Amino acid sequence: MSHKQVSQKNGSLVNGTNGHSNGYGNGTNGLSNGYGNRYKNGFTDGHHVEHGHSDFMKIQRYQDLIGSTPMVDITSLANPKVPGVKVLGKCEFLNPGFSMKDRIVKNIFDKAEQTGLLKPGGTVVAASSGNTGAAVAMLAAMRGYNAVITTSPKCSEEKVASIKAYGAKLIMSPPGVSEDHPESYMNMAKKLARENEGWFDVNQYDNLDNPEGHYRTLGPEIWEQTVGRVTHFVAGGSTGGTITGTGKFLKGKNSNIQCVLADPMGSIFHEYFMSQKLTKPKKFLVEGVGKGSIPGCMDFGVIDDVIQVTDKQSFQTCHQLARKEGLMVGGSAGLNTWAAIQLANQLEEPGVVVTVLCDLGVKYLSKVYNETWLQENNISYGIN
Ligand code: PMP
Repeated sequence: MSHKQVSQKNGSLVNGTNGHSNGYGNGTNGLSNGYGNRYKNGFTDGHHVEHGHSDFMKIQRYQDLIGSTPMVDITSLANPKVPGVKVLGKCEFLNPGFSMKDRIVKNIFDKAEQTGLLKPGGTVVAASSGNTGAAVAMLAAMRGYNAVITTSPKCSEEKVASIKAYGAKLIMSPPGVSEDHPESYMNMAKKLARENEGWFDVNQYDNLDNPEGHYRTLGPEIWEQTVGRVTHFVAGGSTGGTITGTGKFLKGKNSNIQCVLADPMGSIFHEYFMSQKLTKPKKFLVEGVGKGSIPGCMDFGVIDDVIQVTDKQSFQTCHQLARKEGLMVGGSAGLNTWAAIQLANQLEEPGVVVTVLCDLGVKYLSKVYNETWLQENNISYGIN
């Protein structure tokens, strides 16, 4: 069999298993077409005999594999009213640090290096609910920086342990402090940056290189992978970087694309969107999304609607994703998917709803996939 035949066979095999009879063809999946840089290297393209040496030379460093994630069809979880409705999930958990935050940290580091804010051997400080912290710690390790991460006790033990595994110093804020408290994880990072000359503050909440990272990568990938057929983009927000950057790119391509913020019940974004009023946040369990203040990166001008989601809906959707589609993802991916499904089920005409599977479920084995923890929080397993 020639190498060309091998490639074709692989292409149709991937196509077949994903059930892509929707006209998107092979072009939608990272594995089948070498989309982006993720799978271009090594021996995956069937040309290794003729071009073995040059392919070998193309093998990259781990940080170069950020982005170009595959997209998967998760319509099986929805029950649309009309034919031709698709729900697609962007597999951001397949980034090297297992979340979409690798994209923004790479952009922020690249920019800070170019402008001289980040110098060889320097120290980076970042406030994070966990994923940005892991991405900062990972990239700092690879690029020779020291990393100091501040987070809150809400951060899962798996995320805390992985930040330390990359060699970063982790500082935990006291329990129960509000975001405006001087000892909140966000304010602690700002204080450290002020008090230590030369430290670079990632400041993901206000640094516009965060949404720009998504504008430059996540948006274009979604546009290309759906061959421009995306009609709705659904994402939760914390810094607002994902929805703002991706939404701006997609609306620039087609102003009819609707951007919908999935917001945990208890976050202040929903009420702010409805009435421009700032309210007091309430407790919720989903990590990494929702907020008690409005970050500088969040641009409500991009957002067409907000769907509120409960902890139970988020976590039970995670269980469904794992047990129906083999996708073991974090709570915010469950939240996004629940909102995307509601939207898809209400559509009156064909549409392509794209959402973000933000991070890996392994980061939450002690919570989202732990029956004892779920019971303690009065949440039953969504599917058995
Ligand atoms: N999901 C998870 C798991 C996250 O860590 C984050 C970021 N804190 C988000 C969603 C929200 O992304 P953004 O900050 O871009 O709004």
